Amino acid sequence: MSKQIALVTGGSRGIGRAICLELAKSGSFVVVNFRSNKKAAEETLEIIHQAGGTGETICFDVANQEETGHNIEALLMRHDAIDILVNNAGETADSLFALMSLEEWMKVLNTSLQGFYNVTKPILMKMLNRKRGCIVTVSSVSARLGQRGQTNYSAAKAGLEGACRSLASEVARLGVRVNVVAPGLIETEMSQNLPKEIIKQIIPMGRVGLPEEIARVVRFLCSDEASYITGQVISVNGGMI
Ligand code: NDP
Repeated sequence: MSKQIALVTGGSRGIGRAICLELAKSGSFVVVNFRSNKKAAEETLEIIHQAGGTGETICFDVANQEETGHNIEALLMRHDAIDILVNNAGETADSLFALMSLEEWMKVLNTSLQGFYNVTKPILMKMLNRKRGCIVTVSSVSARLGQRGQTNYSAAKAGLEGACRSLASEVARLGVRVNVVAPGLIETEMSQNLPKEIIKQIIPMGRVGLPEEIARVVRFLCSDEASYITGQVISVNGGMI
């Protein structure tokens, strides 16, 4: 890849941080988005610099359309265009559906699904003008595998997969590729309270994944090596489904 501009939402920690580093190592200037953890975002940027890469941090809540819109507008003024967008920001609020509050339901949908709209829409318009761009969205095995306590999360992630398939077909002839990576259980703060020893028993490879194992697939999908891949959901889950 030549010097491209990549925006990674939720790039401050976990899978997003690994994606930022992988894209930076491939030569992209990486814009590391975070919502509140400035220290972690700055650590990500420091890791990028140590690897010889370049980037910057940017703070906005993807669930907030106005805040996101202003920040992306400013970003597009600074950089003219975004070549790569990775919609990675996501969160959980697990609860049995019978007990789930509207707040828990909306929180997860607002970050994943509304966040996808808020971030992708303004960036896509610019990509279409230039007839060039690549969008990768991070979903989850939970989109297809029903998990107790995750109706909100499963709904959001399944929605993202449907949205990306449709968007891919709308823009395939206009130079923009849209794909999804669906991780299984990955070692990050998000998964730290899950019963990993029990879950490992249902993972054919018998172990949880590493953020880098997701990041390498995202980097591939963003590269010219993936030039004929669009509208796909790539599972990276140790063989779960
Ligand atoms: P982490 O909880 O470790 O990190 C979440 C990241 O998202 C942080 O950078 C956080 O920013 C950011 N974030 C959360 N909400 C918002 C928001 N509203 N606006 C902007 N940024 C936000 O998560 P993971 O790295 O584990 O997960 C990354 C993605 O992978 C998510 O979409 C998740 O659903 C998905 N996934 C994770 C799996 C796992 O096992 N870990 C499995 C399957 C999918 P800040 O640091 O400021 O809080």
